Amino acid sequence: MPSNEMDVQKAFEISAKFLAHKTYHSLTHAVIHFLSSLDGIDDVASYEVFVDSGCKNGISIRRFPLTLDENFSDRNTELLRMAISKSKGGLTNMKFKDQNYLLLDVVKDVIPRRAILLTGTVSSKDQVMVEGVFGIYANQVALLDSKERDSLTGLPNRQTLEFCLNDVVVYHRSNQKSEIKPSWMIALDIDHFKKINDSFGHLFGDEVLIHFTDLMKKMFRHTDFLFRYGGEEFVVILNNADPDEALAAIQRFHKEVENYNFPSGQVTVSIGYTIIDPITPPGLHFEHADRALYEAKRNGRNQIVNYDDVTSKSSHRDDVELF
Ligand code: GH3
Ligand code: MG
Ligand code: MG
Repeated sequence: MPSNEMDVQKAFEISAKFLAHKTYHSLTHAVIHFLSSLDGIDDVASYEVFVDSGCKNGISIRRFPLTLDENFSDRNTELLRMAISKSKGGLTNMKFKDQNYLLLDVVKDVIPRRAILLTGTVSSKDQVMVEGVFGIYANQVALLDSKERDSLTGLPNRQTLEFCLNDVVVYHRSNQKSEIKPSWMIALDIDHFKKINDSFGHLFGDEVLIHFTDLMKKMFRHTDFLFRYGGEEFVVILNNADPDEALAAIQRFHKEVENYNFPSGQVTVSIGYTIIDPITPPGLHFEHADRALYEAKRNGRNQIVNYDDVTSKSSHRDDVELF
């Protein structure tokens, strides 16, 4: 077969492979894997870039995690900030501190903006293929976002939480003997949000939701998954944390919200959480976190409740009722 026909066939096979991915998460994994296999490429990382949202503090960047327990600070943030502020989308070859990079900037009006950074040099033979992959990826991201994300905050929605939770449970089931620390399901609900809408208007309420999302992105690590569950309710899947670490992370966020100057003044949040035990059917994890959240509301709001404490109290009550 002549080489250009082989190229066309190869390009066709690659596109078919990417188009088969039905979620942003698995598509991005596949694209990173493919780009990493090219000659001359040392590293590939994908990022969610939230540009100039409510906090007006420029760009916030979250690296796409390849595993739940990766634990390093990203070396590319400085370069990305610079490159993205200049980029108009598409592919850009760059040199930074004597290292070659290729930036794939998926603009396409998606929120968050997505960028893939390749460290190394793509050979001229592979350049056309990378352009093709970029085109497919950009289109698919726009399509998948419309199903998977909430348009106000750019966070994944409730349906995406279900897929993601399944992946997390499967991950723990298949890694039970390793040193991997547990994951946690955290349900968050802004207190008296209706009053904010009633006093300041719906648009102001939206602005508070965007600021709240900014705080979540700032306070939780890139390996934690953030969701807008609906209205003023959010969920975090916190990964790779012992019980003390999970509680400390939740307390840090809780305090940050309490001390933050929202456009409407002070805002507080009630939080319920539970461990993601891989034996428990996935549907029950949210139910448990939500039950703990209900207790936090019932006890006066602006507090954190662990589902374990709810169940131990109610079983204690049962003991008492038996006599
Ligand atoms: P609680 O402390 O018990 O949680 O009280 P609350 O007022 O926060 O809760 P409630 O469920 O009574 O009200 C939630 C409000 O959130 C009602 C709804 O109109 C508003 N809301 C839901 N989605 C949006 C949105 O996208 N934007 C705005 N601005 N408001 C929203
Ligand atoms: Mg609510
Ligand atoms: Mg509320």
